[in-house]
Amino acid sequence: MMVSASTAKFYNARPNGLQRFGAPRDGGARKHRGTDFSHSTRPGTPVPALLGGKVTGTRKPGPGHGFGFQVTTRVVFAGRTWDVSYAHGSRASAFKVGDTVKQGDVISAEGETGATVGPCMHLEVFDVAAGKFVDPMKLVKNVLNGSGGGGSPAVLDHGAAAVPKATRALEWRWTGVQRMLKARHGFTGTIDGKPAVGSIAAFQRFMNAGGFAKRAPRLKRNLVVDGAWGRNEVRAMQQWLTERWSYTGGVDGVPGPGTKAAFGRAEKGNAEAFAAVV
Ligand SMILES: [Zn+2]
Repeated sequence: MMVSASTAKFYNARPNGLQRFGAPRDGGARKHRGTDFSHSTRPGTPVPALLGGKVTGTRKPGPGHGFGFQVTTRVVFAGRTWDVSYAHGSRASAFKVGDTVKQGDVISAEGETGATVGPCMHLEVFDVAAGKFVDPMKLVKNVLNGSGGGGSPAVLDHGAAAVPKATRALEWRWTGVQRMLKARHGFTGTIDGKPAVGSIAAFQRFMNAGGFAKRAPRLKRNLVVDGAWGRNEVRAMQQWLTERWSYTGGVDGVPGPGTKAAFGRAEKGNAEAFAAVV
């Protein structure tokens, strides 16, 4: 796959070190969810789209939104679906929701809208199937290497083929847990047994309030309450199941059969305890 010249030039530049993926935020309570690219100390450097796709979201600066002018695209690369998002734009993207974007199209411009310490473009990559944010530089590297044209996505392979994905747990029945979340943790949606953003955000609050996230090995911090599900959520959940529901497996973020069985016990127990909540 040929890479557009503007894309290669922009993304080949080393991110200037404002912050890389995983850098601690808020004293370590959170991690930087993206990688910042900065090519100038002045706003306005055009940002070419890393990959072609469809625009699925645009946001502008406002209260509670630290990403300023942001535009999000859904793309398919190396056989996987990714949400690629460009934030802190100096102005609104010329593209609107539903538009098709080609690689190299100027989708944004480096800016300092939202919470940023200087003009940059904050690139975020969300692995839709895995339900988590990943290091954008892995995707960047594979795009620049042109490895999406049928070759195997070596860098992007999470090695998860034989391992249950974190999202597996979202396929389990959640009715009792949703009742508990509704009674105690601000879940306001429908109790339908299928956790979506609202249930997950309430679950994140529950895991933080109970201290399960902070006590979970290899997590040891509160979850970011953003309604997104990933391995950390499973870790916190496994800690809860260990302490309360006789789970004896590993707190490893992998929802295997033992986790499922313990979750089933929690589900039943909560359905009984919160029977009145509908
Ligand atoms: Zn950033």
